[in-house]
Amino acid sequence: MPGCLNFLHRGSRLEDRVSENVKNKIERLKRDIRFHDRLYYVLSDPKISDKEYDVLLKELQALEDKYPQYKTEDSPTVRLSGGILKGFRSIRHVEKMYSLDNTYSFDEIYSWKDRVLKNLPDGKISYVAELKIDGVSANLTYRNGKLISAATRGDGQTGEDITENIKRVRSIPLTLSGDNLPEFIEVRGEVYMEKQSLSNLNRQREAAGEPIFANPRNAASGSLKLLDSEEVAKRRLLFYAHSLGAYSGVKLSGHFEFLQKLKYWGIRVNEHVKLCHTIEDVIEYCKLWQGKREGLAYEIDGAVIKVDNLEQQHKLGFTLKSPRWAIAYKFPARQATTEVMKIVFQVGRTGVITPVAELKPVECGGVIIKHATLHNFDEIERLGIREHDRVLIERAGEVIPKIIKVIERRGKSAVRIPKECPVCSGKVIKEKEEDVAYRCINPNCGEQLQRSILHFASRQAMDIEGMGEAVVSQLIGLKLVGSFSDIYRLKGKDLSALELFKEKKINNLLSAIDASRHRPLSRLIYGLGIRHVGEKAAYVLASKFGSINKLAAADMPTLQGIHEVGPIMAESIVDYFAQPQAKKLIEEFSSLGLNLKEEAKKTKNTPLTGKRVVFTGELKNFSRQEAEELVRQNGGYPISSVSKATDFVVAGDNPGSKYNNARKMNIRILNEQEFERFLK
Ligand code: AMP
Ligand code: ZN
Repeated sequence: MPGCLNFLHRGSRLEDRVSENVKNKIERLKRDIRFHDRLYYVLSDPKISDKEYDVLLKELQALEDKYPQYKTEDSPTVRLSGGILKGFRSIRHVEKMYSLDNTYSFDEIYSWKDRVLKNLPDGKISYVAELKIDGVSANLTYRNGKLISAATRGDGQTGEDITENIKRVRSIPLTLSGDNLPEFIEVRGEVYMEKQSLSNLNRQREAAGEPIFANPRNAASGSLKLLDSEEVAKRRLLFYAHSLGAYSGVKLSGHFEFLQKLKYWGIRVNEHVKLCHTIEDVIEYCKLWQGKREGLAYEIDGAVIKVDNLEQQHKLGFTLKSPRWAIAYKFPARQATTEVMKIVFQVGRTGVITPVAELKPVECGGVIIKHATLHNFDEIERLGIREHDRVLIERAGEVIPKIIKVIERRGKSAVRIPKECPVCSGKVIKEKEEDVAYRCINPNCGEQLQRSILHFASRQAMDIEGMGEAVVSQLIGLKLVGSFSDIYRLKGKDLSALELFKEKKINNLLSAIDASRHRPLSRLIYGLGIRHVGEKAAYVLASKFGSINKLAAADMPTLQGIHEVGPIMAESIVDYFAQPQAKKLIEEFSSLGLNLKEEAKKTKNTPLTGKRVVFTGELKNFSRQEAEELVRQNGGYPISSVSKATDFVVAGDNPGSKYNNARKMNIRILNEQEFERFLK
């Protein structure tokens, strides 16, 4: 039939056109996204909201998933994909990465200038003054405008290959924009974290019992060395370019010009960089920022001064360690002297007693300081601190200032380790000789109670919305709550005694409490706050034992037989359940209707039992958390990234790159209906 042929013919032309359209659309979206990245990060002048930006990104991702033939390595969606790295290879820098010589006074800056002048007798010199950002340096390599690799400084000659992680830093372009791009260029700069992001991160880490980062440098460098690139994406790392390495295919004559070019190509450069024509201007700049550093969103520890002209730089050359054409001016440490008025003892959730110095308020680097942490009693001994001593304190990027030394002994008597808890008068002991920490061992300690209840009600544990600090402290103060089980005995009229608690708030809290009765066993176990039992361990324990009673009855050998449980954790679990209070608590939980069993019906085999399942995209009927929970209940394992060991990928709307990976690896993909059928 000729008509049919005709139709076919038209059909394939139509297909070509559709595919041409898709390709154009993808290119346009990529261009738009890069344009908005540049406005946001480089020019600090966004024209769309974060939400609108996400819409563009999602649209691009959806198209790429549907037409993977058009997905490219430099697409902004690369930043959304996860992946676990095996380790870091090393990369040799084309040009060596140097460190900087430090100066600590303006006099030293003048002598540096004199040395420079001696080597450039007939030169007129301009300088570029920059902020010295407290982060970690990275070397980005672009070839023909594409980011091809990224490395840490390492020993200066070779660094570690952190390309995959650097791609998750949104302020670093994967592709340069503009024209006259260099064939090849090494761009060096600082990966850093803003003060706010760092303190948020530290708060989360503290809640999870992980060690906190002492300063932005450690945080940035720790984050770049994470093996889980999805985690890197969450860390809110930022980048400022500040130095030039090897390059070709572009003409550059000055450092300042180089920085301007970078901005034009879409690479972020600090806005406070200044071209100075005299050394006096440079000193002005250092003074200015020494005074204004507190107002910045990120930490700086000094200024960096560079000879602007590249030819002059070349003439000056390098010493073994650093360029002769640049110098760092380090701000004086933010120190102050004050008096220790009192040493008080704080009690943590696990009863650990932490000494804290209450100081006579003093200004230190623009902030009024009233407290300094002393970490533990060994620290007090090491420093020899007594109440009323005059001390030197220092803030070095840390969140809490520390005491450096005693400068005048005024206290009469040495600090005594309290024998009793300052809050509940319970007994304070060092459990083992090798421990540094002393702790209050009274299980009914008020302070510990408050912290334990907050932990019990937290989002990762029983997730009782509305049980925040203010509510919990009132509940304890009014003697309405003295244990976890009391939470489940609260009545409306009890709650009406709380500040600002009217009908609506009362009902909300009661229903939040009620809902928490049905949380999975793993969350309850985690909520108990057994020492050394984190979220993951709680999950393992819940699935291995299946009920709280079986867990409570487990002995050391049984516990240690579990791969994820070490001897310290095993001992801590046995000790916990050996307490009569723990037995009583479980009985109370049971009569108050809390779920104490793992709901996974291990005997019932579903197609998900024992399977590793990855989710991507949005499901209509479940949140991600609910879906993962269902997998667990069916005896399966929710996993975050696709690998050969993955059994199923469940794809909802707008699936991410995991979908493509699954297709490439031939892993079975389920849509939402199929997933639901598997659950039955
Ligand atoms: P340091 O680690 O104290 O020897 O200081 C040298 C480091 O300062 C370099 O490796 C960079 O990572 C860092 N740095 C921060 N800001 C700048 C800047 N504006 N110019 C050059 N280096 C900088
Ligand atoms: Zn106590």
